Amino acid sequence: MRILITGGAGFIGSYLAEAYLKRGDEVYVIDDLSTGNLDNIKPLMDNHKFHFVNDTVLNRLAMLELTGICEVVAHLAAAVGVRLIIDDPLKSLHTNIVGTEIVLDLANKFRKKVFLASTSEVYGRNSKVPLNEEDNRIYGSTTVARWSYASSKALDEFLGLAYWKIKRLPVTVARFFNTVGPRQTGRYGMVIPRFVGQALRNEPITVYGDGTQTRNFTYVGDVVRCVMALIDEPRAVGEIFNIGGEGEISINDLAGRVKQLTGSASPITHIPYESAYQEGFEDMERRVPDITKVRNLVDYRNTHTLDDILHKVIEYERTRCELSSQRVAN
Ligand code: UDP
Repeated sequence: MRILITGGAGFIGSYLAEAYLKRGDEVYVIDDLSTGNLDNIKPLMDNHKFHFVNDTVLNRLAMLELTGICEVVAHLAAAVGVRLIIDDPLKSLHTNIVGTEIVLDLANKFRKKVFLASTSEVYGRNSKVPLNEEDNRIYGSTTVARWSYASSKALDEFLGLAYWKIKRLPVTVARFFNTVGPRQTGRYGMVIPRFVGQALRNEPITVYGDGTQTRNFTYVGDVVRCVMALIDEPRAVGEIFNIGGEGEISINDLAGRVKQLTGSASPITHIPYESAYQEGFEDMERRVPDITKVRNLVDYRNTHTLDDILHKVIEYERTRCELSSQRVAN
């Protein structure tokens, strides 16, 4: 199979590309490297079945050519990360809305299957436990930049479902809940790489708010296996699925665990949301996925505990720190 992965140099996209290559498929990646990173795909570059195009999904001509070549389009390119969205809401709106429209329009032109990556962020402030795919979206005012991301991804979902309903284009949507693992960058706000980096540098571990908010973290490798199974499953077409982890942990406990596992001397400090992000910032208290629907259709298992994931991230970040200090020394 030939698959086009948009955002394939990003965190989840690069794992997906690697998994398809391992399966023997031919992989085309388009990525503008805005949040993606060449280091993520460096090990794949020598594989003759891997093709990388450094361009944006907003370039219709580039997308036209690639969509024509491939059988499936996995659309993961998006402006993600709370920090990035707050700093540049225009970019996230434009990339997420226009980019997805281009992907769907071209896939429809060539009648290609589409997988759309969405996010648990679409549930907004709904803190019902657990959240299932039919649950309501609860958003704050349009003056709060964070909600622009949730709204743009919700619009992507509407578009995907409409292409299926009206044009019979085979589209599957998955909502990722806090997917983590080595290679994720903390630059755009993601908590685990940030805490691990801070702990390894013996800097304060920065818990935002009072730290009682909780998250369920999932290992990226499990998410990728699930995505591949959904793409292979004809009954997944026209449907939305949650993909997420089962263990809930507060951000306070996460900070403590990172400190313990790294043996760090870092203090754990609490920073008000207004200082961490901006005035009027709104966070989600809990975000627990109901994964019954995906489990009923494909073999989706969470194979890594949070400690397993943290060990992997710590090892990865340690190696990165060592490499960069070696570079400085040389
Ligand atoms: N968070 C934190 N310190 C940080 C980065 C994030 O306390 O340095 C918190 C953030 O406010 C949120 C949780 O960790 O409550 C998860 O944040 P992330 O950005 O990783 O994911 P999301 O908010 O999208 O669930």
